[in-house]
Amino acid sequence: MSAEAQTKYRGKVLQVAVPSPLRRVFDYLPLPQKHALPEPRVGIRVKVSFGRQQLIGIVVAVVNSSTLEKKKLKPILASLDSEPLLNNAVFKVLLWAANYYQHPVGEVFAAALPAKLRNGIPLRGINKFWTASEPTAEEENSLSRAVKQQALLSFIRSTGEVTESELRETGFSKQLLMQLLQKNLVEEHSRAEVAAASFEPLEKESNFDIKLNEEQLIAVTTISKALDAYKCFLLDGITGSGKTEVYMRIMQEQLSKGLQCLVLVPEIGLTPQTITRFQQRFSCLVVSLHSGLNETERMTAWSQARDGSAGIVIGTRSAIFTPLAKPGLIVIDEEHDSSFKQQDGFRYSARDLAVSRARQESVCIVLGSATPSLESLHNAQTNKFVHLHLTQRTGIDQSSTMEVIDVSNEAMTEGFSEQLLYRIRKHIAQRNQVLVFINRRGFAPILNCQTCGWICECENCIAQFTVHANPPSIRCHHCGAAARLPRSCPSCKSKDLNTMGIGTQRIEVFLQKQFTDTPVIRIDRDSTRRKHSLEKMLEEINKGDPCILLGTQMLAKGHHFPNITLVAILDADSGLFSADFRGQEHMGQTIVQVAGRAGRADRPGEVLIQSRHASHETLQSLANKTYSEFSQSQLQERMAAQLPPFSHLCLLRTEASEMQPALQFLDGIAQFCQRFSAHNSLPIEQLGPLPAPMEKRAGKYRVQLLLKTDKRGNLQALLSSLCAELESMKLPRSVRFSIDVDPQDLV
Ligand code: ADP
Ligand code: ZN
Ligand code: ZN
Repeated sequence: MSAEAQTKYRGKVLQVAVPSPLRRVFDYLPLPQKHALPEPRVGIRVKVSFGRQQLIGIVVAVVNSSTLEKKKLKPILASLDSEPLLNNAVFKVLLWAANYYQHPVGEVFAAALPAKLRNGIPLRGINKFWTASEPTAEEENSLSRAVKQQALLSFIRSTGEVTESELRETGFSKQLLMQLLQKNLVEEHSRAEVAAASFEPLEKESNFDIKLNEEQLIAVTTISKALDAYKCFLLDGITGSGKTEVYMRIMQEQLSKGLQCLVLVPEIGLTPQTITRFQQRFSCLVVSLHSGLNETERMTAWSQARDGSAGIVIGTRSAIFTPLAKPGLIVIDEEHDSSFKQQDGFRYSARDLAVSRARQESVCIVLGSATPSLESLHNAQTNKFVHLHLTQRTGIDQSSTMEVIDVSNEAMTEGFSEQLLYRIRKHIAQRNQVLVFINRRGFAPILNCQTCGWICECENCIAQFTVHANPPSIRCHHCGAAARLPRSCPSCKSKDLNTMGIGTQRIEVFLQKQFTDTPVIRIDRDSTRRKHSLEKMLEEINKGDPCILLGTQMLAKGHHFPNITLVAILDADSGLFSADFRGQEHMGQTIVQVAGRAGRADRPGEVLIQSRHASHETLQSLANKTYSEFSQSQLQERMAAQLPPFSHLCLLRTEASEMQPALQFLDGIAQFCQRFSAHNSLPIEQLGPLPAPMEKRAGKYRVQLLLKTDKRGNLQALLSSLCAELESMKLPRSVRFSIDVDPQDLV
């Protein structure tokens, strides 16, 4: 049957993306002409009735027919905008993303808009205004009997233009204006059009005194030459090699043309310092978009990006959807960072979408990192990206040396070998600062009973409770559950409870006992919960007095500690033998990033890695080679195993309060996938369904099925057909199903 044959209604139909779990658009009729001025267009918000609710959706297409009968088509309730909220490129990227990530298109649009707009609040800050057009005699004549319309037209002619508020003040109705608009006697404009150049274009040569080194110069000239079209650059430069300086030179160039720059940074990297750095360099308006904003602040920043008054927009993951009036450049700093991938709901990769957006906008994009992801390195090696290198530390900085300490035969005290303690003492005695890295917060990861062997586990998750010291409690790091520290074993009543393993709090206690005269500063999610506490600690550290800085992942990013001369990685082994195939890549990135904090001043830095597997190839290649050689050998392993970037993955997951229904449902899906791939001769490998490595989390059992193929197209074909099938079925209410395309988190 052809599509023609299914047409049941002919006439104007709006296809609306409505926030609902269904992966499709819905047909609505426009309002009868007399209400609907101006006419609904692609990209505007409309209010529609949807089942028993009224929802706000976005018009994604205006077509001339529907497969529904007329009586089944409802008119929209209202149209909320007179012009599209999102620019064309963002609009297209979202449509593409809905399809690629197999996420309901209405929810995709909802995720891209600030909450206020999502909820139907009018976009303030779009200052619309109207000017008189040059009408034909016929058009002019059409007013002969419309006295009020004539009066408004003369008013507009006399003042040159009229804005919405002037209209209100002078008592002319909007309706009147719309009538003039329909007769082509006035033209509508919006501030976005005129404001696009409204931040002061920067002087091209502003005076800052940093002289670029040769590699920076090559990077800047190469990018500069390509700025009038799409191109993606991978700026691969060690920490402190001046990547940010390179971004800023290119930004300078685009800002001086009146073009805007969008800068994405990892969640943890968007500190007031980052924003200040841009504000100090550039005179234009710099706005930031991150999770700490309230909805009014977000709305304002978003509008300033959209109407062109902000020159620089800096934000975390979801800022990639911010429309720009005059886009000129996209920068992704620390492109390897996993916070660019959304881990639930609309599971998009902001980095990947940034690349497709840059292509849509015909602008350049720079992906910067000291430890590029294997995906991006692969793209550079296959010439999709241009690879630029910065290998020199700027200024007087010296590089650090890295060494693996073999602790396989050592007696350890609270996670420290004698050797390591000795080295820390030495650096402190020389009045230097030391950084101790362990990626586990809390006091200890395990609480058990010495008498019967009971282990304290979270009931909601198959995971151990972590013991916290302050206040004494047990907390689940997976679902957030917390309780008082048990005094006795619930199983045998013994009071002989014991903590095993180490976390930051325990090390803090230990180090403070060992180094009574040296402040130990702990930086982790718990110690920085209170506002400004991180800044205070950083201030303390930057005074430069000897101290021991102790912390998690939070330390690996963004912050510069010029006085640190020793970095100690307490435990590299968990990364070596991780269930996740990206485990080693992430471990390597973390170690290199943490190491990058040391030796930035005129003192060389030392990096010590404790391991029970000191001769492990991966550790040795990290310690003795460059990150680039390390990543090269990782790439080879991935190629041998046919894992990303040499194949493409999709993770299908079910969750339910019992294991059986989750397994059963995914089993059905696996069978569908098998039939589909066989029938269409698509080489798609299936692993599972199997219980997830983390089998139960937050009260739900989790089962997953991993799909693997060498062509994205294969997966896309399968997924589209799977989703269509699922939507035609009645799903069991008790099972939650999700699709994660290009998953980062397989646990
Ligand atoms: P990255 O972003 O690669 O970590 P930055 O751009 O932040 O490096 O540079 C590190 C420090 O070196 C900054 O203080 C910066 O001002 C300085 N810097 C950058 N380029 C140069 C240069 N060519 N000469 C001297 N100092 C530089
Ligand atoms: Zn017991
Ligand atoms: Zn839990």
